[in-house]
Amino acid sequence: MMNRLLLARILFPMPVPEPFDYLIPDELAVTVGSYVLAPLGTRKAVGVVWEICELPEIPEGRKLKQIIEVFSTRPMSKPQRKFVDFVGKYTCTGAGRVLRMCLAGEQALAPSPQQVRLTKGSTWPDQASEARTRVLETVGGQDWAPGELAKAAGVSAGMLNALVKTGGLIRQMHDVDAPFDVPDPGQALVQLTPSQDIAAKALVQAVVTRKYAPVLLDGITGSGKTEVYFEAVAEALAQNPEHQVLILLPEIALTQDVLARFAKRFGAKPAEWHSDVTGAQRRRVWRQVAAGQARIVVGARSALFLPFANLALIVVDEEHDSSFKQEEGVLYHARDMAVVRAQGEQAVIILASATPSLETLQNAAAGRYAHLVLPSRPGISRLPEVSAIDLREHPAPKNRWISGPLQQAMAETLAKGEQVLLYLNRRGYAPLTICRACGERIKTPHTDAYLVEHRRTGRLVCHLTGFSMPKPDKCPSCGVADSLHAVGPGVERLSEEVAQLFPEARREVFSSDTTSNPAQIRSLIQRMESGQIDILIGTQIAAKGHNFPKLTLVGVIDADMGLSGADLRAGERAYQTLIQVAGRAGRADLAGRAMLQTHQPEHEALSALLARDRDRFVAAELFIRQQMGFPPFGRLAAIIVSANSEQKVIRAAADFAALAPAASGIEIWGPSEPVFAVVRGRWRRRLLVRSEKQTDLSAYMSDWKRNFRASADIRIKLDIDPYSFF
Ligand code: ADP
Repeated sequence: MMNRLLLARILFPMPVPEPFDYLIPDELAVTVGSYVLAPLGTRKAVGVVWEICELPEIPEGRKLKQIIEVFSTRPMSKPQRKFVDFVGKYTCTGAGRVLRMCLAGEQALAPSPQQVRLTKGSTWPDQASEARTRVLETVGGQDWAPGELAKAAGVSAGMLNALVKTGGLIRQMHDVDAPFDVPDPGQALVQLTPSQDIAAKALVQAVVTRKYAPVLLDGITGSGKTEVYFEAVAEALAQNPEHQVLILLPEIALTQDVLARFAKRFGAKPAEWHSDVTGAQRRRVWRQVAAGQARIVVGARSALFLPFANLALIVVDEEHDSSFKQEEGVLYHARDMAVVRAQGEQAVIILASATPSLETLQNAAAGRYAHLVLPSRPGISRLPEVSAIDLREHPAPKNRWISGPLQQAMAETLAKGEQVLLYLNRRGYAPLTICRACGERIKTPHTDAYLVEHRRTGRLVCHLTGFSMPKPDKCPSCGVADSLHAVGPGVERLSEEVAQLFPEARREVFSSDTTSNPAQIRSLIQRMESGQIDILIGTQIAAKGHNFPKLTLVGVIDADMGLSGADLRAGERAYQTLIQVAGRAGRADLAGRAMLQTHQPEHEALSALLARDRDRFVAAELFIRQQMGFPPFGRLAAIIVSANSEQKVIRAAADFAALAPAASGIEIWGPSEPVFAVVRGRWRRRLLVRSEKQTDLSAYMSDWKRNFRASADIRIKLDIDPYSFF
């Protein structure tokens, strides 16, 4: 007879609403948080034990299955489990789908795979043959994979085996996962300026106190925010050998820069985590984070879901960046969720930016976040001089995009042996292709987006869906040959113009098409740093974070782009981008300048930027948001309804809208037809919901959706705190 029955409630990484019940067999040591294998339907699945309860007996009529296996991985911590529950509720997606982001596959739960390594043994024959002597000379004090050693010494595998038998070589099994180097808190590499020192001390103090403490680190580009937060990292590492630190960055391109600086400052390469880290490396990082061995992770937003055992500090660098919002799957904002995770872990969180988001500035103004300011660049490095080129007065020639004043400034800069960055946030050659014969604008099939010409690859590409096709020689609509005409500039076309204007200059395009992986990014950054490039033509990937000491002129080709739009953050985002890109000019000891080509220099965002008056811009934007009750003063949620025909989506959106639960203080707009009304053959409609700040809008939205019974081809997506309004 069994003395007691233990029941585990297991959450699976799939879209199920609740954990499922299982019996814990006596022989398995299962605790809350254990990663386990359990039967699910006809197969076995990995899950995490969410709760354990004791039962006097199995309730009548219930059949309970048993857990099959428990993994030796350190159980998921309580703060992380609470975090998963929170994110599941907040985003209305359920804990299961959030748990999926926390796992790295079943293999990551097994210990590291092993491999054979050979080292030098003690019994080496005095009279060795020539081949044996070669092995002896090659092996040295290192350990080797047998294949590599055989190759390096020019001997056969059989010879190595023979040496193992005689004790000349020692054969051992090692983990394939190399441990991460242990970082050394050491000393700052630069002498902090007085204002940096004040900020660094405040951060260090917050880490010493170790409680939930959000801090906004607000400093102009190049003011030393990274150097300052490194001091907080050093303190977190020094305090406790188990402390772990997470640094979140919005772009892989930025990750590379921070990784290199990190390695220099702390003498160890941190663990790296983003979409480009694959397979075995991913599992290595996951395992070692769970084991507490990887102490620093530098990564993109998904690093927030790694199984940290003792997370003491989170840094969200470039916290204003809208790419922290994940737009597929679980729609979460990594900055906001990082604050939640920090709260659960009782950790310090530093939000760093030269252009903080209005949400964060408002939190600081309300006293919820501490606010540290770095007002200037260290030493003689000054902020660039920013000026506007009014295109109404200085239009560029037809089918050209560089105005006279910008061309002249470029010539001056190159003559001094300095570098130029031309900024245009448009990938490819031309954003639009028109047929001269019939006027057709070429669109993506079954999608409301124009195809973008990429001349480098000879294709037309949809930047919304990823669809692409070779550029046709005839108009797909009227069939006339050679009638297709490129309209507007992308970086490739701008590069052509640069080649005509400055044929001697060495130029390169920096966009996600030319540099799509960390190695390419690193190599381009190195070429720029070492002066092998004169003119860099870049999209937003070039706008942030990099320090190019000889870059003294930034030309913004189209400063009007994105200034207005259906998006409540359009002005804010344009302002932030322009400040960031302008901030690339003039580091080290060279004065820099930024020139913005615009048709509307009087626009609020541009005029505030030219006047260096961020406070004025922020106050004006906040005033509008307050009037409208928009974030950060109220809450928003978007609903995207989609179906496989227009008729169906209209009906489904109307049916869904009619089910809105009655509640006071909720406003609903729509359904309306969005900019992209058809995507990949699915018709779309949007609704926007606004509530007061104190309303639990997630709960309201979940209730609403629960009431809706849709046919299988209707999809309803809820987006809490939307950043995309298309
Ligand atoms: P931010 O993160 O604010 O853009 P960084 O920390 O990247 O600024 O600093 C910009 C550049 O200035 C870096 O090359 C950095 O090493 C250097 N720097 C920052 N503070 C100092 C200092 N006190 N002394 C010397 N160099 C510094």
